[in-house]
Amino acid sequence: MKKNKSIVILTLMLALLFILSGCKPQNLRLVKEVEFVLGTLGQIHVYSESEKQGTQAIKNAYTRIRNIENMMSTSIEGSDIFLLNEYAGDQQVNVDQETLYVINRGLLYYDLTEGDFNIALGSLINLWSIGKDTARVPSHEEITEAMKHTNISDISIDNQTVIIKDANMRIDLGGVAKGYAVDEAIKVLRSEGITSGLVNLGGDVYALGNKSDGTPWNVGIQDPELGSGVIGSVPLVDKSIVTSGDYERYFMEGDVRYHHIIDPKTGYPVQNNLRSVTIISDLSIDGDVLSTAIFIMGVDKGMALIESLDNIEGIIITSEKEIYASSGIKESIKISDNRYKLREF
Ligand code: AMP
Ligand code: MG
Repeated sequence: MKKNKSIVILTLMLALLFILSGCKPQNLRLVKEVEFVLGTLGQIHVYSESEKQGTQAIKNAYTRIRNIENMMSTSIEGSDIFLLNEYAGDQQVNVDQETLYVINRGLLYYDLTEGDFNIALGSLINLWSIGKDTARVPSHEEITEAMKHTNISDISIDNQTVIIKDANMRIDLGGVAKGYAVDEAIKVLRSEGITSGLVNLGGDVYALGNKSDGTPWNVGIQDPELGSGVIGSVPLVDKSIVTSGDYERYFMEGDVRYHHIIDPKTGYPVQNNLRSVTIISDLSIDGDVLSTAIFIMGVDKGMALIESLDNIEGIIITSEKEIYASSGIKESIKISDNRYKLREF
């Protein structure tokens, strides 16, 4: 009798578990919103219990992203970065705690990447103006001159005040702020009770939880040749995946592609055989910085750096259609385009 009773209870429990896990996907609805933020088309998808909950969560996430943009944009008048640049060589600026955090991450990564990632490249970035109507190939003299004003030690921090000591230096957080914004948007979604979703800010993606059917998100790796379509995908749960590619913002002159990732050593857009670098990490801020920096480093140095860092995986695609994947991701990456080949390094 006792045995029978426990079997009944166990059966009921299993049935309940089955009902719960079977029901959940049907009850959850997919809500998506696209908005132009941080100079890119943002996409947020969430699975939520009601359309209302999903819409509200997404709205709050975009509000948070705009709030970050209003602090860290170089072009929005009155932003912390706008004021820092405006008062360069002149006055110190009291910046928000968050701007300070992102600046400090930038400084930290300058050391880790031996200067390849440099938030003090603003003058050079403005000179090239890649992605703007005014983009052009500057003269060697202009580049040499702009490069004189990229010395990161001219950024001086005292508590919450910052000053750029060099009047001609400009800070640009374009290689790091989007990642930070993705992390913060995910925090907002979580606080709104969302456990499944996807945030994409122009190639800075975070896969929150599992898909509604309980399986991992399969995040596509863009085909760098076409700038659209995918060459494969990776299964991800609660991970950031950020890609930097030379197809994102660029102009062509003759056969040369002038793109938005600037090599601080030359002052020119990096010219190597890399087409894209994808970084998988827990935080998008780290992936954002590393994808940009490793694009500059190239395959050997870049893969060595990825392998040396904990909880960081990476995928590099070259112009020869070779794919290099770090040890922790090699087994799970699915390549769907047979023109691309996985190579050992
Ligand atoms: P991403 O799209 O994340 O690869 O970042 C590219 C953006 O970062 C550019 O549009 C610039 O605003 C900025 N950037 C370009 N080169 C560098 C660099 N070497 N270090 C730091 N930021 C950079
Ligand atoms: Mg980046």
